Amino acid sequence: MITDLLRVPQGTVDLASIDPHGKPGFVGNKADGAKALPAMAEELTTLQEQLFAAGYTADNRRILLVLQGMDTSGKGGVLKHTVGLFDPSGTQLKSFKQPTREELDHDFLWRVDKAVPEPGKVGIFDRSHYEDVLVVKVHDLAMPDEIERRYGAINTWEKTLSDEGTTIIKCMLHISPEVQKERLLARLDDPTKQWKFKPADIDERGLWSAYQQAYEIALERCNTDAAPWFVVPSDRKWYRNWAIGSLLLEALRGMDLSWPKPDYDVEEQKKRLENEVPRS
Ligand code: AMP
Ligand code: MG
Repeated sequence: MITDLLRVPQGTVDLASIDPHGKPGFVGNKADGAKALPAMAEELTTLQEQLFAAGYTADNRRILLVLQGMDTSGKGGVLKHTVGLFDPSGTQLKSFKQPTREELDHDFLWRVDKAVPEPGKVGIFDRSHYEDVLVVKVHDLAMPDEIERRYGAINTWEKTLSDEGTTIIKCMLHISPEVQKERLLARLDDPTKQWKFKPADIDERGLWSAYQQAYEIALERCNTDAAPWFVVPSDRKWYRNWAIGSLLLEALRGMDLSWPKPDYDVEEQKKRLENEVPRS
């Protein structure tokens, strides 16, 4: 299972030992990869619809996919190609940017808690509460004691969410600095992509090893069974999209979903439909 292959093991995390160009669990080349993702679309959408239908009953279950990664790691690409396979009415997307003044006046989990998926939904966080121990740590935007407190607060919050019926899948999109340079250059070279670039992206790139260290600490301290971390090698876009599709598919398969039984008598309703004439 991809879930087992990409799961971050308990204990010290060493990102340098994970190949960003790897393709664990996939046999084949790019052309095979391009076919493998659409091949899972039908099963993904059927299971998603069953989850959505379950949301109309007392079933509280939902999925939360957390996407984290350096600039150009492909969060947008996963949204377009993998999450794009789902029926949009059953998904709930939230992108986390720099906190607003109002958000900064609250605890860091305040804005995140408001964005959790409703029962039946597949929620996606494009960036997340992890920014509060990543960019915040790298740039000293909070006191060290406060950052230290946050790992435990995250684990407690995620455990509650899981207990309430949320399957949490946290993905770190792992790229190499060489591939990031190529992708940033591609953004600069293409007038249709220049809007995605900010000069500050190059400053952040300069802090690469500080970010990798902050990720290692977050992946180590917040890697629980209730809310596991996966490292997704993301130098190859097709592998990244396929791997996250596979994680979602395996999670949905494990939920033992089925079509909800109606809480009315089908035959009786058919008879009514035959006999009742619309009033004019
Ligand atoms: P992008 O995803 O490229 O649109 O950029 C969003 C920016 O918001 C990134 O530079 C993030 O680091 C930043 N950001 C997101 N969450 C936080 C946070 N909690 N504190 C500070 N910066 C954040
Ligand atoms: Mg950006």
